[in-house]
Amino acid sequence: MRPTIGVLALQGDVREHFHALSACDAEPVSVRRAAELDSVDGLVLPGGESTAISKLLEIFELLEPLRARLRAGMPAFGSCAGMILLASEVLDTRPDAQSLSGIDMTVRRNAFGRQVHSFETDLDFAGLDDPLRAVFIRAPWVERVGPDVEVLARVPHTPRPGTVVDADPSAGDPQEAAGRVVAVRQGRVIATSFHPEVTGDLRVHRMFVDSVRESVAAGA
Ligand code: GLN
Repeated sequence: MRPTIGVLALQGDVREHFHALSACDAEPVSVRRAAELDSVDGLVLPGGESTAISKLLEIFELLEPLRARLRAGMPAFGSCAGMILLASEVLDTRPDAQSLSGIDMTVRRNAFGRQVHSFETDLDFAGLDDPLRAVFIRAPWVERVGPDVEVLARVPHTPRPGTVVDADPSAGDPQEAAGRVVAVRQGRVIATSFHPEVTGDLRVHRMFVDSVRESVAAGA
């Protein structure tokens, strides 16, 4: 069964998610309007710029339809800006930025930006046998999770071989990042601070597509 999975196509790295979803035997479709949202079995919220996407969600009148589908149990996966949008509370964002409350969590926007703009490292990820390469680009981290939220991954406490850091000259203490929560799941909603769509490793997308298939099979 080939589920139809929407990619919120207002701004951000939409094309990379399209490729990853197709490679996982799902049917990706763009979502820009409420009618398009109605027809999908699940939705990806891409990386990009969360405050810009938030504004566009209002302009395209997608905010309330999207909140309603999430409340009704639609599976969703957000990477980076998508994680920020799925949070119930966002720190260090614009006062008028909207969030979707798909996951009971507090996310700090641009959290790693205080010490490094971007970095790559291998992570242990719950449910995956081998470490996952994670690419962080002005990424958020998760500062609080509610009781129903499962932590899937954290930044390693000791840097792994092959870690690549694009250091900011005004860098603070890199240890501030160690142990931070960077991937979570609540029911069928998954969020990562990093971008699985850019590495060619399909395991996170596969996990999401499997959960969409389960939701369709359950008649959700
Ligand atoms: N810093 C961006 C934001 O606030 C997220 C970056 C990303 O998606 N790579 O939305």
